[in-house]
Amino acid sequence: MPRITINGVSFDPAAPTVAAAAAASPDSSKSNYILVQTKAPLTDDDKGKLAALGVQIQEYVSENTYLCGYKPSDLGPVRGLPFVSWAGVYLHGFKVNPNLRPAVGAAQVNTIGPMAVTPSVSSTPRQVDIVMHDDVNPDSADVKAKIAAAAHVSPDTLTVSRKKIRLTVQEKYLDAVAAVDQVRHLEEVHPVKLYNNVARGIINADVLVNGTSFQGEGQIVVVNDTGFDNGSTTNTHPAFAGRVVRLVPIGRPGSADDPAGHGTHVCGSVLGDGLSATMGGVIQGTAPKAKLVVQSLLDASGGLAVPEDLHDLFEPPYNGNANARVHTNSWGATTPGLPYDQSSQEIDDFVWNQQDCVVCFAAGNDGIDGNGDGRIDTGSIGSQAAAKNCITVGATENMRPDIGLTYGQLRPSSFPSSPIFGDLTANDAEGMAAFSSRGPTKEKRFKPDVVAPGTSILSTRSGAVVTADVTFGVSNDPAYFFDDGTSMATPLVAGCCAVLRETLVKNNVQNPSAALVKALLINGAQTLAGQYLPSEAGLSPNPSSGWGRVDLQASVIISGADANAGFGEGGPLNQGQQSGGTITIPNRAGPAVVADAAGNVVPAALGPTLKFTLVWTDPPGAQLQNDLDLIITAADGQVRHGNMGTGSGFDRQNNVEQVVWQNVPPGDLKFEIVAFHITRFPQPFAFAWRIG
Ligand code: CA
Repeated sequence: MPRITINGVSFDPAAPTVAAAAAASPDSSKSNYILVQTKAPLTDDDKGKLAALGVQIQEYVSENTYLCGYKPSDLGPVRGLPFVSWAGVYLHGFKVNPNLRPAVGAAQVNTIGPMAVTPSVSSTPRQVDIVMHDDVNPDSADVKAKIAAAAHVSPDTLTVSRKKIRLTVQEKYLDAVAAVDQVRHLEEVHPVKLYNNVARGIINADVLVNGTSFQGEGQIVVVNDTGFDNGSTTNTHPAFAGRVVRLVPIGRPGSADDPAGHGTHVCGSVLGDGLSATMGGVIQGTAPKAKLVVQSLLDASGGLAVPEDLHDLFEPPYNGNANARVHTNSWGATTPGLPYDQSSQEIDDFVWNQQDCVVCFAAGNDGIDGNGDGRIDTGSIGSQAAAKNCITVGATENMRPDIGLTYGQLRPSSFPSSPIFGDLTANDAEGMAAFSSRGPTKEKRFKPDVVAPGTSILSTRSGAVVTADVTFGVSNDPAYFFDDGTSMATPLVAGCCAVLRETLVKNNVQNPSAALVKALLINGAQTLAGQYLPSEAGLSPNPSSGWGRVDLQASVIISGADANAGFGEGGPLNQGQQSGGTITIPNRAGPAVVADAAGNVVPAALGPTLKFTLVWTDPPGAQLQNDLDLIITAADGQVRHGNMGTGSGFDRQNNVEQVVWQNVPPGDLKFEIVAFHITRFPQPFAFAWRIG
């Protein structure tokens, strides 16, 4: 029987400890929530039979297992359904994330079973988010009273938001809180930081500006960061003149200025449009005609006052007169490699409910070579950057070989070995920035989605910064300074997303979905060859560079103007439904000559290459709630599946699926998008393709 994993607790329903626990709860009279494991993905008919018994599916958790609401006290009818392999009460042992348990026995907690936990006797205060079941209002007096009593705190100390209650509680009371039936799970609250704490250098900021005439006109981008310039919408740095829509003070009441300088630098990378006589002339972000909303998060003590529920960060500028449809976030958890948590859930839920809003997040700067083997370790991406429906951005190097700064000089303990230690931080545009956080996520998902230059970025300096930071480089122009990190790569990509939205809106896609923008962005991204042997990046997708380095020009597709490229939106698909179309592959030679990472000429492909990218905005949840499959069948009958190379299996983790098919056979090719598994809600999708 497959193991079920939920909230970091993994167990086998057939294990003796679980069987004993189930025997202790032979019926569901004490809980309104159950887990149901089925023998195969549920059909609509199966779902109807469950609903008829009063089973309300809330979330797909893993291995054909669903967390469900269930008010009757007899589990017998559910267990009796022929397609159900196991059903049991959602025991409170499932609810406490292992990292909230005492260190002793943590491995056992993680592997043995939901009841095999060691009760803590510690009075250590733990700040936790108590996340409620889907049908529970955490603001109800009944729920608040139960939580406060279990936690031994005053109800006044509870901070309530949409789906959770945040409080500080002694560790020994966590199990009592978990035992409250309305509680879905408990998780630790992790502090956040800006993602710019590594190497800096010297380079122009207009790295991703290309020959397109689209520059973000008509688009509004929200920057959630430290603040903006002197805090005025009218008296601004000249690079933003007339384009600041709104400044929202969140961290410091009444003040949205930027004494830290990080936010203003980020804003410049998105949409700055300035001139510098001493630093190379035009200095632009990637969407220099877009408009700006800044939500200032810097608090009085230099930290970040991120709203406890991220809906409260994203919704206000989406609604109201700002109507912003692109958000960029260059911050995230201080702890690397966290699993999908409530912050990830809130990001995914926001995009699921506002399907036209693009949300970008920095991957983080937690890349390290922990074992000194000269390769960056995998698995450092997590939490916010692990959300399925955002665009997660990693950092590449830029081309400024005159910079004398090496990774070893910056963080010798993080990069102790060759070839990284002595490598310059900005001397190879095909190389990863060593500090860029790596995937896969804890859920085995590819992240980052894309990469962009994140070392040696020159951008706008806040007027509220008294003394310019010259630690890593000197700007000859006091209106600009140098910074780096995935913090700097992310706004460059957010600007690209604004430009992509503009190309769509101006060509009769009035309200493009975030999934479509992401599909275009990813489909245009180029393979990052890597700068070391063996490559630290290479063929897409991979845990370092995701689906590759952004190439805005290659991502832009003007509908009907190019027979070799196209895009579309479709669905929503119900269980087992499919959608698709045909693409005519021309009978011609492929691209002439390409070079590999070492500069060797690689023989040209004999025929054209098709690249096809499918993206969907999945409902919130650590696992894919809705699993679509991309299937492409060439004119000669050969078949390719998304993310599977030439393999015959299917991707069950990612909500981005891509087929890159070199020498694709000529003739009419068929593409199909198949709804393999739909949990609750029918699933819309978007795709983009190009023949190269
Ligand atoms: Ca799939």
